[in-house]
Amino acid sequence: MLPTTDKPVLTTDVSTAPSVKPRFDDIFMDLAVNLAKRSHCIKAQVGAVLTRDTRIISIGYNGPPAGTHNCDEEFPGVGCPRDSKGSCSLALHAEQNAILYAAKNGSEIEGSTIYVTLSPCIACARIIYSMKIARVVFLNSYAEYKGIPSDEGVDFLRRFGVTVERYVSSSGASVGADLPITQPTP
Ligand SMILES: [Zn+2]
Ligand SMILES: [Zn+2]
Repeated sequence: MLPTTDKPVLTTDVSTAPSVKPRFDDIFMDLAVNLAKRSHCIKAQVGAVLTRDTRIISIGYNGPPAGTHNCDEEFPGVGCPRDSKGSCSLALHAEQNAILYAAKNGSEIEGSTIYVTLSPCIACARIIYSMKIARVVFLNSYAEYKGIPSDEGVDFLRRFGVTVERYVSSSGASVGADLPITQPTP
């Protein structure tokens, strides 16, 4: 038998670990930030996590439907084909991918919370509202980035009773600040 001093020390040793536990908001937003990095889109990288009662029901990041295009491989340098607003014309948004997967698999979406690394656009806001998602937590503001007065998606959701909050990290650390939102038009 090993002497007690040779006991392996667990990294989660309760005697030394700080008593502050991460909030679910921190855990899910961290995951959304990591998911965004998987996006193949050149214009923007956005991640989303759909949760219900503190459990994850779906995840998503922006990009064309699986099995169609990988923007970064198909259009290196030149970037994605643009729509009339300058966004990637091939991609489903992160929120759309997360919601569609949950719907396809018959998950209960009503009353859920969605974490997203960029404030929802008006098209996603309409879907979020229609699916009766109760709460939206976003990290970066598209309007702030573009220097426009307000996020129309956020305004729409708030106007029709959906709770929308800007994410504030409990540690004060800035997360996701390095995620590209959109690249300058070449
Ligand atoms: Zn793209
Ligand atoms: Zn959108």
